[in-house]
Amino acid sequence: MKGFKLFRVLGIQISANYTWFIIFGLVAWSLAGGYFPSRYPDLTRSAHWVMGFLGAVLLFLSVLAHEVTHSYVAQREGIEVKEITLFIFGGVSQLEKEPEDPRKEFKVAIVGPLSSFALAIFFWIVSRITAQAPNLLLVTGLMGYLAFLNLSLGVFNLIPGFPLDGGRVLRAIFWSKTGSLRRATQVASETGKWVGTGIILLGLVSILTGNLIGGFWFVIIGMFLRTAAEGGYQQTVTKGALEGVKVRDGMSQAVLSVAPSLRIDRLVEDFYLTHKHITYPVLEDDRVLGIITLKDVKDVPREKWAEKTVRDVMKPLREEILVRPEDGAMEVLQRMVRTGEGRLPVVEGEKLIGIITRRDIMNLLEIRADLRQ
Ligand SMILES: [Zn+2]
Repeated sequence: MKGFKLFRVLGIQISANYTWFIIFGLVAWSLAGGYFPSRYPDLTRSAHWVMGFLGAVLLFLSVLAHEVTHSYVAQREGIEVKEITLFIFGGVSQLEKEPEDPRKEFKVAIVGPLSSFALAIFFWIVSRITAQAPNLLLVTGLMGYLAFLNLSLGVFNLIPGFPLDGGRVLRAIFWSKTGSLRRATQVASETGKWVGTGIILLGLVSILTGNLIGGFWFVIIGMFLRTAAEGGYQQTVTKGALEGVKVRDGMSQAVLSVAPSLRIDRLVEDFYLTHKHITYPVLEDDRVLGIITLKDVKDVPREKWAEKTVRDVMKPLREEILVRPEDGAMEVLQRMVRTGEGRLPVVEGEKLIGIITRRDIMNLLEIRADLRQ
């Protein structure tokens, strides 16, 4: 999931997905144009806009607080957290690994909704206090909205469908009962899909009875939940099947490589039009300098092909696109998704010893999943 890097909290990178900027605008606009004017008609138009803007900022901070609590507990349980990405319905904490036992999973999952409920109570108390002073109507309105918002965040995340927090709690309970993570994930995902379907139906009924916008949102949330439940289960199955599988098990050893001094027109003629590969490692004196992909070549205007060389347009080697034979296949697959590179050089010391592709890993996965049945 791509996002803008924002800042760090507890050493964790906080990013916002692009959808957040749209949501931010929509929230500010609907608060300033609908919610606040109808509840506080005595305030001025500019006051409504200030409240709308602050409301959107505070929504962002509330979701952030929820996610940071997950991450804080995960770190205390010995699970490293790489990044928190905020997106349309909340956030995703990217844990370095899944919790190893149900007790940890339960703890990490439950603190998110609990933190939202705690915030809801806090904002509600503040709103009761400021309500005593009539000239603080703007603050009271905002605080009341925040209490409602955090309550909704807590309740929504407690929906018992994996991968929402409630689904994780359910999974932890089944996991400790059955001892099988896969079975528990299956149950929690099935529940998630059923709840998603229920919410969609509720939305359709709302639309039919005239509540167009509310019903529409229900349908979207239900669809989101169904997709997430499906994806979460698939991911667990993939992880299980690739457990302990190393790059060495799936890489190809015969590797075609190119020299950095090769001109782009020769590269196209002798490699792209002759062989089937999209990516080639760039080698100088047996050392890997980087990789060159078809996309890199396409970014060079055709009339420049005779002037430019591989060195000018290649991607220099960096940690993210460098694979070692002992790296885990699952981790490399995730890196391929993250970087968009489907074919990575395998390097031992400084020497190129092979290449691994997304296809290679998918084949490994297919074989192992078949053997398990
Ligand atoms: Zn959560």
